[in-house]
Amino acid sequence: MAESKTQKTIVIGAGPVGTLAALYAAQRGHDVEVYELRSDLRDPSTVPLNFTKSINLALSERGIHAIRESGRSVLLEQIFESTIPMHGRMIHGKDLAGKLYEKPQDYDIHGRSIYAVDRGGLNKTLLDELDAMPNVNIMFNHKLTGADFKKHKAWFEVSGSNKSGRNREIEVDFDLMIGADGAHSAARYHMMKYQRMDYQQEYIDTLWCEFQIPAREVQDSTGKETKFRISPNHLHIWPGKEFMFIAIPSFDGSFTCTLFMPSSHFIHLEATPQSVPEFFDVNFPGVTTLITRENLIASFKSNPHLPLISIKCSPYHYEDSVVILGDAAHAMVPFYGQGMNAGLEDVNVLFSFIDSEPSKHIERPSPSNLRAEALSKYSEYRKSDAHVINDLALQNYVEMRASVVSPIYAARKWLEEKLSVLVPSLGWQTKYSRVSFGNERYSEVIRKSDRQGRLLTFWLVGLISSQVVLGGLMAWRRATRGRG
Ligand code: FAD
Repeated sequence: MAESKTQKTIVIGAGPVGTLAALYAAQRGHDVEVYELRSDLRDPSTVPLNFTKSINLALSERGIHAIRESGRSVLLEQIFESTIPMHGRMIHGKDLAGKLYEKPQDYDIHGRSIYAVDRGGLNKTLLDELDAMPNVNIMFNHKLTGADFKKHKAWFEVSGSNKSGRNREIEVDFDLMIGADGAHSAARYHMMKYQRMDYQQEYIDTLWCEFQIPAREVQDSTGKETKFRISPNHLHIWPGKEFMFIAIPSFDGSFTCTLFMPSSHFIHLEATPQSVPEFFDVNFPGVTTLITRENLIASFKSNPHLPLISIKCSPYHYEDSVVILGDAAHAMVPFYGQGMNAGLEDVNVLFSFIDSEPSKHIERPSPSNLRAEALSKYSEYRKSDAHVINDLALQNYVEMRASVVSPIYAARKWLEEKLSVLVPSLGWQTKYSRVSFGNERYSEVIRKSDRQGRLLTFWLVGLISSQVVLGGLMAWRRATRGRG
């Protein structure tokens, strides 16, 4: 298609990543159209896909930074109005005497927090922001069904759009398509027909199901007040070797909770749902004091038991025509709280390449050639980072459900945090801090963290060996003195 003066960017998917990408493109003067499969989630009758009511997420520095960089200064303020800072984890369990305990574990010695946010609320704020931009059009109930990336054309099925209520198909021209249509991305699927894409997907043997800890209503002289039943400033974890139950605070005083468990255990409990409360009593002590036994059974029966997928692919683009971002490019398991954060970061990184100076070797710096170069540089740069955070997310499941109660884990965390304060010049930080409170590339985080690990091991081995040698010398001195 002939390049018009104003670049036409179409964004597939109006999730958190797609809406932020649309905002970045609109800020640069593109003519932006957003196509979303579902109806407007601000309409109360819209049922969120896959999720029950809403899902609470941990928003951290990478996501915050990308939103801040959108150039819409009030946006972050609006989002922060309904977030709750979480300073650390609260580990729940039972001691040997059978007494319930709660152990706080700060995320960061410097007092930094991650933020509980309602995913739907965040998405709505981004949609409202897009509505205020004259160069953005959002099309709901439009499903991407096909694309020709050489001719820059896409096809959409518009649900219930003609008089008979049947779906119809429309054709749309574009200069650039940004595919932010989630883990089962149609943009990625159609791009694969044009690009030699490496693709790898894995369903881990864990399903998840949502529960709610309701707010506590307190009646006083001034009226009714809602209170949290457990600390609102923590991400609560009931670790189990094979399972995990977590709770994230919501603004209304409730907690959105998630049970993660191997599929075989789900099958077992699905056959005997009446035993769900007993299962919780054994594995997640204290939860039945927060959620009634009836509600545990009801939520387990009515809420979906959903899979977790991990996707790696590359490259993320085809020529100057299409690029995929967010879960479409790197869906990950949720155990590092980075899926959305990494997706929002993708947007900032992509546009930093789009904004950057072209290479000197581009012969004809047409908009199309410049875009092709920016997309290609983005793909090349982002691959290692996306792959690293995918792997870290998988590894962190073990940390969350088992290592958090291990003394070795606690000792390393303690030592690394002490070093970060006592010898700041070393630049020492825990891996978690680097991932959640900084904007260093994920690949750089892992490089530095591995180096720290090797140094710690080296020092510890050195310390233990010197103690052994010293002990040996003392024993030898005692023995020779005795003889003399
Ligand atoms: P999505 O949110 O999936 O949005 C894609 C959009 O595209 C949807 O609106 C969909 O309707 C639309 N779409 C799909 N197909 C089409 C089509 N053919 N045509 C048009 N539109 C289409 N991340 C964090 O950062 N922190 C957390 O704490 C966290 N916790 C999580 C907990 C759980 C249990 C789960 C499952 C995920 C969690 N995540 C977390 C991950 C996070 O939810 C995702 O990474 C994030 O939602 C991805 O955003 P996205 O915009 O790329 O995709």
